[in-house]
Amino acid sequence: MENELQRLKKEAEEALHAISERAHLEEFRVKFLGRKGLFSRTMKQLGQVAKEERPRLGQLANAIKKEVDELFHEKKEVISTGSNTAAQDLDLSLPGRTLSCGKLHPITQVMEEICSVFEGMGFAVAEGPDVETDHYNFEALNIPKHHPARDMHDTFYVSESILLRTHTSPMQARIMEDKEPPLRYIAPGKVYRCDSDITHTPMFHQVEGFLVDRDVSFADLKGVLTSFTHRMFKKDLPLRFRPSFFPFTEPSAEVDIACVICGGSGCRVCKRTGWLEILGSGLIDPEVLKMVGYDPDEYSGFAFGLGVERIAMLKYGIDDIRLYYENDLRFLNQF
Ligand SMILES: [Zn+2]
Repeated sequence: MENELQRLKKEAEEALHAISERAHLEEFRVKFLGRKGLFSRTMKQLGQVAKEERPRLGQLANAIKKEVDELFHEKKEVISTGSNTAAQDLDLSLPGRTLSCGKLHPITQVMEEICSVFEGMGFAVAEGPDVETDHYNFEALNIPKHHPARDMHDTFYVSESILLRTHTSPMQARIMEDKEPPLRYIAPGKVYRCDSDITHTPMFHQVEGFLVDRDVSFADLKGVLTSFTHRMFKKDLPLRFRPSFFPFTEPSAEVDIACVICGGSGCRVCKRTGWLEILGSGLIDPEVLKMVGYDPDEYSGFAFGLGVERIAMLKYGIDDIRLYYENDLRFLNQF
């Protein structure tokens, strides 16, 4: 009987090895391990064996059956998960999948470039809150309630006294309140206005800059802005200052550069004028200095604000501002 058990074990192992499909597993189970299977039948013969041999052969039979049963379950596992075929299909010589590398958004790139140009001229960078009080956004910048300049801003109000800042200029008041001159700061960030078309988006980016010290004049402003545009556009483009009005600067000027496309001879982008407006600026209004407790007879300063989208459009020749915010990778990958 011992020989019979060993032979059965060998037969079962060979049969199991040959199985490659799930359907054949059940056949195997019934044939060998089932209640009327070969193992059960062999074990029934134990009754005919000499009494003293029975315990040893009984144990042996159980051990062999258990072993075959385990092999059966292992095989079942391999077939059901398909891990065997997956292992065979694994080609270690295949090149790995490359992960595409992300990059900075063009607006972020241009903003960082603007900051680094001003940092090179000794300006420090300060950032302020997007949700701002009416006081810092308007009152502290010489724009009292009912001032007509408020209409230009298309403000998103959160409550009567809280709003989404419409420009980065509030940082001027915040920093001046907090520190004593001399001051040289730029404040980059997001600003919000209720406006959307080919040249406007409800959220856009500005960089505010200001300098306060003794004897600051318009010549200093002109020098700083000229140096900035030359470094930003990597060309010595002529600048033009046009008289303008902002409530928090006096005198105020809008600044144009010679068209980066046609160089001043006139084209579609500059509307045949040869000039492109790039920023607003001026000497800080004495009223604004008084409001933060500076003596306007002792200190003076200049301030300017530029639109980052505008600079990026001119730098890269983009004609629709909305392209920045459509998240189209074909566009974004070009920068
Ligand atoms: Zn032009």
